[in-house]
Amino acid sequence: MSAVSTPDPLVSMLERIRRSFYVRAAQLRLMDDEDGPIELSAGAPIAWAVSAAVHRLQRLAATETVIVPDVDREADLPGETRDGPRIRFFAGIPLLSDKGKVFGVLSLYHSNPRWLTNAHVRAFEDLAAELAPLAQCRRDAVTIARLKHRIERQAETFARSRDTFERAAIGARVGLWECALHDESLTWSGQVYDMFGIARGSRLVRQQSLECYASASRGLLERIRREALERRQGFQLDAEINATSGASRWIRISASVDCRGERPIRLFGMKQDITEQKLLLDQTRFLAQRDAMTGLANRTQFEERFATLSGDLAGQPPIEALILVDLDGFKQVNDGYGHAAGDACLKESALRLSAICAQAELVARIGGDEFAILLGPTFERDAIDALGQEIVAALGQPMAGVGLVLQVGASVGIAHVDPPCTPSDLFTQADIALYAAKAAGRGTVRTFVGGMGSDSERRMPWPIAHSAEHFGSTQQTTH
Ligand code: GH3
Ligand code: MG
Repeated sequence: MSAVSTPDPLVSMLERIRRSFYVRAAQLRLMDDEDGPIELSAGAPIAWAVSAAVHRLQRLAATETVIVPDVDREADLPGETRDGPRIRFFAGIPLLSDKGKVFGVLSLYHSNPRWLTNAHVRAFEDLAAELAPLAQCRRDAVTIARLKHRIERQAETFARSRDTFERAAIGARVGLWECALHDESLTWSGQVYDMFGIARGSRLVRQQSLECYASASRGLLERIRREALERRQGFQLDAEINATSGASRWIRISASVDCRGERPIRLFGMKQDITEQKLLLDQTRFLAQRDAMTGLANRTQFEERFATLSGDLAGQPPIEALILVDLDGFKQVNDGYGHAAGDACLKESALRLSAICAQAELVARIGGDEFAILLGPTFERDAIDALGQEIVAALGQPMAGVGLVLQVGASVGIAHVDPPCTPSDLFTQADIALYAAKAAGRGTVRTFVGGMGSDSERRMPWPIAHSAEHFGSTQQTTH
C-alpha cells in the first residue's frame, strides 16, 4: 500500500469536500491491481478508528453508494468495537472512469452519527463526479510511474543476468544462435561469430555458415536438422567447422524447434567450442588403444577391430586374413642381454612390421613378443603368403639395440577368412598355423589348411583376453 501525502490539487479538493460536509476525514482510494491501492486523504488520519465494520463498508462502496448515518446502529455489522475513538458515520461512493468502470472510491468519515438529506447525497454525488476525471488522471499517472519503475527494475535485472551470461559464455565458449526458417536468416551472439571467424554483427544466411562445415559434418547436420524439423524436436550434434582463418574447430550444437501451431518457424540454441575437449578425448582414446612401448595398436584395439570381422560395424572394410607373428628365441635376448635389449628388439620389430605391412588394416602387438596383422580386401591370397615370407625375412635380419647387434627370428601363422568364419575360428586357425611354423623349426611361414593341427597343438584359445599369461596387457608386462 502506498500513500501520496504531498499537498496537491486532489488533496485540496478532498479538503474542500470534507469541509462542506463537516466530517473529520475525506478519503480517496484508487485501485491499482499490481501494487495495491493509491490512497489520498484530507483531515484526520483514517487509521484512527477503522474497524472491521468500516472495512466492510469500504468494500461495499466500491460497488454502490453507501450512506451509513450511524455505524453502531447497523444491525448487520456485528463485532463492532466499542472501545476508543471510532468511526460512527460513513459515506462512500464509487468513482467511474470514462469507460464506466469503477476505478476508486470517495469516502467520508466522522466520529459522530450524521444524517444526510437527499440534497446532501446529491451534492456528494456531484462532487464525486467532479472529482472523478482528476482522480482518474492521478490513478493513470501513478500506475504509469509504477510501471516505469517496474520496467526499470526488470531492465536492471535483465542487464545483470545478461552480463552474467556473457561472462559465463566467454568462459564456457558458448554462444547463442537462431535461424528464422522463413528466410533462413541467422542471428548469432558475438561468441558464435568468433567461433566461425566471421566479423561480429555481419549479416548472415544459413548457406554461408553451412559452407564453413567440414563435408562429413555438413551432411550429418543437414540430415539431423531435417529430421528434427519433421519431428519438431531439438537435437544435439558435435560438428567440425573450418573457421575462415583456416583453423579446424569442433563445435557442439544444441538446437530447439520453435513452432507456431504445428508449423516450425525458428530453430535456436547454443553453440559451444569443444575443440580442446575433442582433442583431449581423441588423444585419450588414441592412447587407450596404443601399445606404449612400440606405438602399435594394442590388444584392446585389435580385439575391437577383430570383432568387426565382417566389416558390418563402424563402416570398416571386411577382413581377408589374419597373420600372427611370434619372435623366435626372444627369451634368449632378454636372458642374455637384459630386458632393455629385449625392449629394443620389440621396438625394432614393430618398426619393420609397420613398414612391411603399411597397407594392412591393423598392425598390433597383442602379447609379449607376439604381433597380429589384419589384412583387408585389397590383399590377394598370394600377396598374403608373400607378405608372411617378407615378415620372416625382415625380422630375421640383425637388429641394433642398446649398443649391441641382436639376432632374433620370427615364425608366422596365416589364416584366410573362409566364410562362414567367426573371429574365434579365424584366430584359432592362425594360431594353429603359427604353432605349425614353430614346430617346423621356426623362421618360417605356415598357412592354415583344413585338417591342420589338433586341440593339443593349439597354443591358446580365443578370446585371447582369457589367455592372460601369454597375452598379458603389453602395457603392464613385468619382466
Ligand atoms: P619361442 O621361440 O618359442 O617363441 O620362444 P621365445 O624365446 O621367443 O619366448 P616366448 O615367445 O615363449 O616368450 C616371450 C618372452 O617375452 C617372455 C617374456 O618374458 C618376454 N616379454 C614379454 N613382454 C616383454 C616386454 O615388454 N619386454 C621384454 N624385454 N620382454 C618381454
Ligand atoms: Mg617367442
